[in-house]
Amino acid sequence: MRRTASILSAAILGLAGFSTIAAAQQRPADLGAALLQTPAVRAAVDFAKTDELRTIDDQIKICEVEAPPFQEAKRAELYAALLRETGLKNVRIDAEGNVIAERPGAAARPNVVLSAHLDTVFPRGTNVKVRRDGYVLRGAGISDDCRGLADVLAVARALNKAGVSTPGTITFVATVGEEGLGDLRGVKRLFNETLKDKIDRFLSIDGEGLGVTHIAIGSARFRVTFKGPGGHSFGSFGVVNPIHALGRAMARIADFQVPNSPRTTFNIGRIGGGTSINAISADAWMEVDLRSGDMTSLRALEKQFRQAVADAVAQENTRWNSSALTANIEVVGMRPAGRLPSSAPIVQTAISVSKALSLPISFSEGSTDANLPLSLGIPALTIDAGGRGSGAHTENETYDATDAWRGTQRAILLTVALAQP
Ligand SMILES: [Zn+2]
Repeated sequence: MRRTASILSAAILGLAGFSTIAAAQQRPADLGAALLQTPAVRAAVDFAKTDELRTIDDQIKICEVEAPPFQEAKRAELYAALLRETGLKNVRIDAEGNVIAERPGAAARPNVVLSAHLDTVFPRGTNVKVRRDGYVLRGAGISDDCRGLADVLAVARALNKAGVSTPGTITFVATVGEEGLGDLRGVKRLFNETLKDKIDRFLSIDGEGLGVTHIAIGSARFRVTFKGPGGHSFGSFGVVNPIHALGRAMARIADFQVPNSPRTTFNIGRIGGGTSINAISADAWMEVDLRSGDMTSLRALEKQFRQAVADAVAQENTRWNSSALTANIEVVGMRPAGRLPSSAPIVQTAISVSKALSLPISFSEGSTDANLPLSLGIPALTIDAGGRGSGAHTENETYDATDAWRGTQRAILLTVALAQP
């Protein structure tokens, strides 16, 4: 995942009035506390603490099986076996590579999905050996998202151990393709095919700390290729030049004006092309990343970007009285944006659960598997796994599991709360 900023405080979310609505038993505002008073749920939450060493063992075991983008199969098989060990039913791997398991409730609906992602950003061959020093773990992907994966298992174990029964069904999932290049292919398949129209709420565990992400930053990524006939820099002078056209487009993009709120950004991340200093290039390319927490702003920015490319092509062709220069825009990534108001029941439920467990409440925006359901209008959150970490997306990624069970406890209580009608 990528977390961008902490944007909401408890005060903005209206927590000042929290205690005054405790009397309304059915309101999400006291759902967490009410559930925690039932013996089975209390036992499941308590179990997370005693089960912590097992969770750490799982985290290491999972992380030592590599899962490069588009090559998550080996880790998926291990994960399916671990889910079976917890006693979950109907454990399977779908056509995209997502691992899915069920814990039936009294009814099929609501169906809440609890999920973490299998994939890492690391290529095949990366050293995935985890180094452990007490509660401090070091290794590629150890927090993002090996801890999330271990937590999903811990939730299943705790619910089964304590014999918690829920009105709705809980579906446990490990997705593929969450990181950049994967373009959310796992969660897209889950919602569009595997469990199409069968998911009512979605909860993803991704990231360290105790934050909650309820705003999904959308991104649109493009690779633009400019092409021309090419030629000798002296002999063919007067021919359209793809590198010059690229420069024209870049200058236009660099001057874009974008809103601060919702935060909207653009970046030309990579450029390339050309064959030699004394050749007019036959091609040039750039990779562009556009982002916003708001779909309308993202679409407006994409329109501006496409216009900049078209204008650059026209200007270069006009300059040399030609029509030989072309540009092709390829979409290489599309993550939809989505946001929940702080009044949304799922957000209020997360607040009530955190409150019941005396955990801090901080909300952020990010780009995670939850983007997809949020863009479909399905309530979704991404919660941090607990613990503390640093160096995500590097081979020196570190996870300090001291008191990480607090995150596991929240995942258990929130999952049970979301499996209520
Ligand atoms: Zn992640």
